Formats: sequence, C-alpha cells, structure tokens
Amino acid sequence: MKAVVYEAFSAPPQIQHLPDPTPEAHGVVVKVMATGVCRSDWHGWMGHDPDIRLPHVPGHELAGIVEAVGKDVKQWRVGDRVTVPFVGGCGSCPECYAGHHQVCDSQFQPGFTHWGSFAEYVGIHQADVNLVALPETLDFATAASLGCRFVTSFRAVVDQGKASAGQWLAVHGCGGVGLSAIMIANAVGANVVAVDISAEKLLLARELGAVATVNATEVADVAEAVIEVTRGGAHVSLDALGHPTTCFNSISNLRKRGKHVQVGLMLADHSTPAIPMSKVIAHELEILGSHGMQAYRYGAMLDMIQTGKLSPERLVGQRISLERSIEALTSMDEFQGIGVTVVTEF
Ligand SMILES: [Zn+2]
Ligand SMILES: [Zn+2]
Repeated sequence: MKAVVYEAFSAPPQIQHLPDPTPEAHGVVVKVMATGVCRSDWHGWMGHDPDIRLPHVPGHELAGIVEAVGKDVKQWRVGDRVTVPFVGGCGSCPECYAGHHQVCDSQFQPGFTHWGSFAEYVGIHQADVNLVALPETLDFATAASLGCRFVTSFRAVVDQGKASAGQWLAVHGCGGVGLSAIMIANAVGANVVAVDISAEKLLLARELGAVATVNATEVADVAEAVIEVTRGGAHVSLDALGHPTTCFNSISNLRKRGKHVQVGLMLADHSTPAIPMSKVIAHELEILGSHGMQAYRYGAMLDMIQTGKLSPERLVGQRISLERSIEALTSMDEFQGIGVTVVTEF
C-alpha cells in the first residue's frame, strides 16, 4: 500500500510503498476513503507524543470501507462503511467495562500508538468496541472530519459541560474544535460567545450560531469582556485552542459554579498552565477535560447530523491528495486554514 511515513521526528515525511496490513483476530482492516489533517498529527511528527515509535505513519481522523475482518469479529462485514473515534478502547479494562473507552487503560490510537490512516489501508483494533457504522447519507470526507475535533467538542459541550438551553457558553479559539463546539452548543440551545484574534474566524463563528463575539486583540481583558456580554459570566466555557492564555481566560470568565472544559491539547511547554485556583475554590468552579468520545455515543451525534441540527460538512475545508498531505502536515504550525483539511485522493 501507499503511505506517508516519517523515519525521524521533524524530518520530511515521504510517500513509501509498504506491505498491506492484515487484520488481527479482533480487528479489521479499513480501506481509507478520507482522512483529516490535524494539529495532533503535527505534534506527533514534532516528537511531542511519547506513544509514537519510528518509523511511523500518521493519521487518526478516518472514514472508509471494511476491507478484511478478523476471525473473532462479530458485528462487521467486508464492505461496511465505517469511521472510528481517535481513541479506541481495549474493551477489557476497568475503564472500558465502565463504558469510558475514551480513557481506556491500554488505548488504541491510530496514528499514535499504531500506524495511522495517511495510507491506503489501516488496521483497527477491537472492531466490535471501536467501529461506528456510517449512515448512507454521510459522505466519507465529512465522516472523517468527525473523529477527533467534532466528537471531542460534542463530548465537551453535551457530556462533560452538560450545556443546556438558555445557558451562556464561551468558546476560546475558533479553529476546527471551536467552530464545531459553537455549532453543537447552538444546536442544544445555549447562547454562545466566541473568542478569537481573527475577525474572519469570528465572522464564521457568527454564521455557525455564536450570538456574540469577542476579538481578543481589541479588548484589555478577555475574561472581563465575556463576563460583561454574559451578564455575570459563562455557565460553561471551553478552551478550544489549548494555550495557557486561553485556558486561563476560559476559567476566569466563568460565573459561580461554572464549568471549564479543556478541549485543546496542552503539550510540551504548555503542559502545566497557570490556573486561577483561588477563583476555582471561592466560586466552586469545575475543571473538566474532554478526550474524544466512545464509539457507542456516536449515535446521538449522527442522529443530530441526519436531522439537520448539526452540519459538520460546513467545517470541511480543502480536499487534497495523499502527496499533498505531507506539506499540509509539516506546515500546520505556520498556517491554519479555515476548516478541516481532508485527504480524499490516495
Ligand atoms: Zn485530530
Ligand atoms: Zn480498555
């Protein structure tokens, strides 16, 4: 198969021809029809992820068709249209038994713990636990765009933040994660305040349902600006970027007993940000994380897509070839276009 491979961190990846994967007894091999390019892939390539062993094939936001099925797999057949969450569960640890596959003790993460989907084929572990069937109406590029940023935002807003109709929800950072969260929070009836430094992204945030915006370059204190707009602070606030400043602002702009959900990754130099802990105590704030979403929770989200309440296809940006994914991956730190870039040609 054709695949994007890197043999050293930060060294240029190359297209190589590798043997096709074969399914494990509990796994499947998926023919990749679309795969998203994500900042986590860039972090992995830079050497920020201790799970990655070289040489490595990146890619974790995939959708495709089941090509081969392991002998112990019960629920899946060759030809099924599928996707997977970026964190897969082992199915047999205490967290998995409790239904928390997204924090499994021995996680399967294509593109991190194992070779990923910047390739014609990818092996998936524990297919009966981790695969999600795609509705016929959902195209592969849109399906691929769900697995990481969109599901993590869905879990952050719905399952962790428990945002509800009439509540104020602040979103710090309007990249792929933030715009997904805005769309989802709007769909559940929350009033969304979007924060970013780009007027263009804030305009898109409005189109996707934000009722107010704060341009961080135009106010002296972002948290104060959000507290003013929301007349007392957000009930739920998300750091959708993953930066010490946005994390601090997201906690600082909460109203009493509000919830901060950390969605953007905090890696390398950013892994231990400052937190206004005195406010957390005095205001009884909650600090939560969101780390993907279990495959079995996709049903609720897919139903909202099918009924038109969520339109993730609006967040799909450029469609590119596997060859061009190398440049998209390695330049991710310099330039982030609007929307999710998806590889659709292999
Ligand atoms: Zn991702
Ligand atoms: Zn597990």
